[in-house]
Amino acid sequence: MKDKARVVIIGGGIVGASTAYHLAKQGWGEVVVLDMGPLFKNLGSTSHAPGLIFQHNNSKTVCTLARWTVQTYLEAQAEADLGQTLFQTGSLEIALTQDRWVELKRKIGNTKSWGLDAHLISPAEIKKLVPIMYVDDLQGAFYVPSDMDVSGVKVVESLAAIATKAGAEFHANTPVTGFLRSNGRVTGVTTPDGKIEAEYVVLAAGLWGPVLAKMLDLNLPMTPCQHLYAKTSPVPELKGETEEVRHPIVRHQDKDMYFRQHGEGYGFGSYDHDPLIVFADQLRQDDQPAKYPIVEEHLEHAWRETIHRFPGIAKTQVIETFNGCFSFTIDGNTIFGEHPDARNLIVAEGVWVTHAGGVGRAAANLLVNGDPGLDMRELDINRFQPHTGSRIYLRSRAERQYIEVYDIIHPLQQMENPRGLRTTPFHSRLKELGALFFESNGWERPMWFGANEKLLYSSKVDWPIRSGWAARYWSPIIGAEHLHSREKVGLFDLGNFFKIEVTGPGAAAFLQRVTANNVDTAIGRSTYTSLLTPSGGIKCDLTVTRLGADRFWVLTGGGTGYMDMAWLRMHAPNDGSVHLQNISSAWTTVGLWGPLAREVVQSASEDDWSNAAFPYVTAKEMYVGHIPVTAIRISYAGELGWEIYTPTEYGLALWDTLWGAGQKFGVVAAGGGAFDSLRLEKGYRAWGSDIHTEYHPFEAGIGFAVRMKKGDFIGREALEKIKATGLKRKLCAMTFDDPSVAIMGKEPIFDGDVHSPVLGYVTSANYGYSVRQSIAYGYLPIEYADEGTKVEIYFFGDRHKATVTKEPLYDPENFKLKG
Ligand code: FAD
Repeated sequence: MKDKARVVIIGGGIVGASTAYHLAKQGWGEVVVLDMGPLFKNLGSTSHAPGLIFQHNNSKTVCTLARWTVQTYLEAQAEADLGQTLFQTGSLEIALTQDRWVELKRKIGNTKSWGLDAHLISPAEIKKLVPIMYVDDLQGAFYVPSDMDVSGVKVVESLAAIATKAGAEFHANTPVTGFLRSNGRVTGVTTPDGKIEAEYVVLAAGLWGPVLAKMLDLNLPMTPCQHLYAKTSPVPELKGETEEVRHPIVRHQDKDMYFRQHGEGYGFGSYDHDPLIVFADQLRQDDQPAKYPIVEEHLEHAWRETIHRFPGIAKTQVIETFNGCFSFTIDGNTIFGEHPDARNLIVAEGVWVTHAGGVGRAAANLLVNGDPGLDMRELDINRFQPHTGSRIYLRSRAERQYIEVYDIIHPLQQMENPRGLRTTPFHSRLKELGALFFESNGWERPMWFGANEKLLYSSKVDWPIRSGWAARYWSPIIGAEHLHSREKVGLFDLGNFFKIEVTGPGAAAFLQRVTANNVDTAIGRSTYTSLLTPSGGIKCDLTVTRLGADRFWVLTGGGTGYMDMAWLRMHAPNDGSVHLQNISSAWTTVGLWGPLAREVVQSASEDDWSNAAFPYVTAKEMYVGHIPVTAIRISYAGELGWEIYTPTEYGLALWDTLWGAGQKFGVVAAGGGAFDSLRLEKGYRAWGSDIHTEYHPFEAGIGFAVRMKKGDFIGREALEKIKATGLKRKLCAMTFDDPSVAIMGKEPIFDGDVHSPVLGYVTSANYGYSVRQSIAYGYLPIEYADEGTKVEIYFFGDRHKATVTKEPLYDPENFKLKG
């Protein structure tokens, strides 16, 4: 075994092999793959998986990873020439219930948005594809012709063969026992056969990922969970079958089951049983650590459903059963990327066979090009909040993921347990006002307030009342809070904001380097800017406020904060000239916005809050009543007002002071629902939907926050090239011809011609309660971006007419903000 390699990959399962394959394809042959067990039928999940690949996913990233996977496995089969490794028979997701049938129509929308070919088909058409299925009680099915079934072990073998030809080495029975580290970087691994130094290490140890991560003090909130799979003896109708898989693979989500053909026999898997968690450090130590006996009762249940759907199977016997282990993360997504506490280690964990080809490609891209080639925010290893490291949290969330794996999940569906983990100092006041709380990264976030129901009777309520899917987790009170904030004043709980203090003699130069705007401003100035990737993608948008010569506040969202902090840490100089501190728990925040905001705060303060003394986009240290605050005159709601920060222990008193002062001006508490529609009307981008690393600032419409002339910054070179080639697409505002249309986001946009290709998809949507329009945003090819262009947006099987509109729809001159 070598003692040096460019890359060491821990784990010879499908993720490790795929990473080695993609590295080889990009010319990196000096790769060593280590597995503690045998190759290629390994100890882990890959060797137990029946290998069904359903590419559709509500997430564009996850769907793209699956599409990359299909491409990878097809290419590897063709190149390695080790026989048939896969069966591209297509897939069916059958609908028994009306709810499921409607959900499948919604999924069709996703597939159009993401560019995956899929159709809805009738029971008769299902019968043609899978003649042994009972279809009389079905509504129909969602059919994806390019889906496939693979033999995981054979795929691994083919990927490994190609990587080996390019110079990679695969070693069986070589456990990694520890890591070599230097200056916060992982520089190699140790094994019983000696150490291997490496430029990079990839963690692809599947079920055992958390055990290895613990050696580096990394939190990988994922755990193995047992899952029932069974195979039958030959089905009479399949007698003489020569193909291993001829029928499309089948998901029966209404019954939490899936099916595949095994030649003359059939296999079925069931999620319809209690989740059986086995923590990674409790896995068996024998030669079958990922295989457990089934619970008879679980099998009986699955059997009943199976023979109802496939009556011929009733004449067979179950010839093999087992509970195989695979990993469940707390949010159902893979864990991917580099952590600032373990640089040069790429984590690729919690990955299904379905995504392994794509995740391997993303890992290789990241190593070779410094960019995964796809926005990986939903999978980012740095996304986890501190409480996700607890075992009790992990158990409860992983169990839930197992139970809900095939459920119809509304995008706003709220987790039930655990709740109440993180509350802002104003929580008791919010509760008294009848807040409806959503959970977000452990925070309890008020969406609207029951106490504001009275506004529905006094204000001009003429906006459409939603129905169906879009009406869930929505209340007309949102509209009342929105209008009240525009007409009078609203008090918003912003206590979940993530706040990073950047100090030190190198702070200004560092922030100039990592942001796109000029942040080396006068003290007291607040600047909207973004962090860009080297390829010019928007890693994050945020505000930077200069509070001293060497002191800045970087303010970002509660959900993205840890990712932004990780990015800043990974780009900060390590010579001691810059200090980064997460001060999110030390400081809390309220937003006070609306035309009467100044009257409210001035009436509670002896400091001068006038326009002359406290202009737009400036910050000051002031007092509100007795409370010391740092106020910043900015507004994501698009109204006059401030984000007001105070040490957390003063938070409740700050709320009470503003609330008391606001009474004579009619202040109301306003929630996240109003906040989102206020920002959309004003055209403010939401990170994660309107903007992320696949978009650059010019096409996203935030080019005004880029200063190309300020000197070098990350992403500048890429932006130069983009500027030279011109825009190919643009984020556009569209309004529906019928303002009562309510959609949720991600819907495909067409140009109105039934046969036209999809132009793009909706990144944000909401009703604009001030402009009385139903608004959607989405990227459109530049030739469609002109005002007045007619488009159509598909939602649950219907196409709705919309028109590209000048943006922002509300206060384009910023009169309100600057007043
Ligand atoms: P693994 O295959 O577990 O490989 C990890 C490797 O790391 C192992 O070989 C292990 O020996 C090695 N390793 C661990 N620790 C060390 C160490 N310290 N040193 C060296 N090596 C180490 N997915 C689908 O997409 N579709 C399906 O239909 C499907 N069905 C499934 C059904 C069952 C019953 C099961 C069990 C899983 C199923 N899965 C399915 C999930 C899928 O199998 C896994 O998610 C996937 O195989 C994980 O691949 P991996 O490479 O990450 O992990």
